[in-house]
Amino acid sequence: NAKSEGGGSAHAFTAQMRDSLQRRRLLEVDLRQALALREFTLAYQPQYDIDSRTLVGFEALLRWHHPERGHVSPGEFIPLAEDLGLIVPIGEWALRTACKEAVTWPLPLPISVNISPLQFRNPNIVSMVTSALAAAGLDPNRLELEVTEGALLLNSEPVMNIFRQLKAIGVRFAMDDFGTGYSSLGYLQKFPFDKIKIDQSFVRNLPDSGDGVAIVRAVSALGSSLGLSIIAEGVETEEQLSCIRQNGCLQVQGYLTGRPLAPAAVEALVAAEKAGETGQ
Ligand code: C2E
Ligand code: MG
Ligand code: MG
Ligand code: MG
Repeated sequence: NAKSEGGGSAHAFTAQMRDSLQRRRLLEVDLRQALALREFTLAYQPQYDIDSRTLVGFEALLRWHHPERGHVSPGEFIPLAEDLGLIVPIGEWALRTACKEAVTWPLPLPISVNISPLQFRNPNIVSMVTSALAAAGLDPNRLELEVTEGALLLNSEPVMNIFRQLKAIGVRFAMDDFGTGYSSLGYLQKFPFDKIKIDQSFVRNLPDSGDGVAIVRAVSALGSSLGLSIIAEGVETEEQLSCIRQNGCLQVQGYLTGRPLAPAAVEALVAAEKAGETGQ
């Protein structure tokens, strides 16, 4: 109201800060127990080849169902889990669960799992990934790890070694949120990525944004000359889809083509894809 926008605004501001700090502290307490209380699940968002309309894989996305607050967004709890170091055990749970669930799908499609910077800088990541694959019986060639440039360090031999060892067993790498960091091209040159994920911030204002169009076109051209696949995130409209396709991007992941799905719905979607493939 008019009053709180006038003299009361400083007070309203501090009240808001206090509330959000308090929410953060309460969430922190609950987040520490969420894994033990089995409050996490994974949702899987489909990825498609645009021209053939075939499924090319899924990205596993963490979901936290809080007993009182309901769904808490990853945008809120992932940064908190990172600050508290909890992303290491939570991320391990996500990887192990994704591998186990992917093994049950009717087709051996690739599965992408997000790896936080904190996990990736720990040399134990190599044995953790190997053990998750073995426990699930998942072919390492089906696993793709999504890392952001925050996970990498340009001149770090240990980080490069982690990358090399995982590549050697057949695991693939996607650079997530491409273009949002400081040195995307430097990392692309230094690390043997297999895929670039164009960040949704570049897709959001298509087709009207001339800059967005130029970026999608340039990144797609870069990817094809480096032999990498390119996928655009956050595609919500037909206009965005035809725009990215016209500018050389061949794969899509977004609400238009499919929201993140619960495991049972994934099985049904993959089964339908398989039936289509074999013409049944
Ligand atoms: P991300 O890895 O870039 O994942 C893509 C995010 O974009 C997901 O949000 C997805 O639901 C959302 N998205 C997909 N298509 C659309 C679209 O068309 N429109 C819009 N507006 N959004 C779309 P989500 O699930 O909320 O996850 C947010 C972020 O949380 C992820 O961004 C990732 O950085 C992080 N995250 C999620 N799961 C994990 C995990 O298991 N481990 C780690 N370390 N981070 C995770
Ligand atoms: Mg991702
Ligand atoms: Mg992303
Ligand atoms: Mg992101």
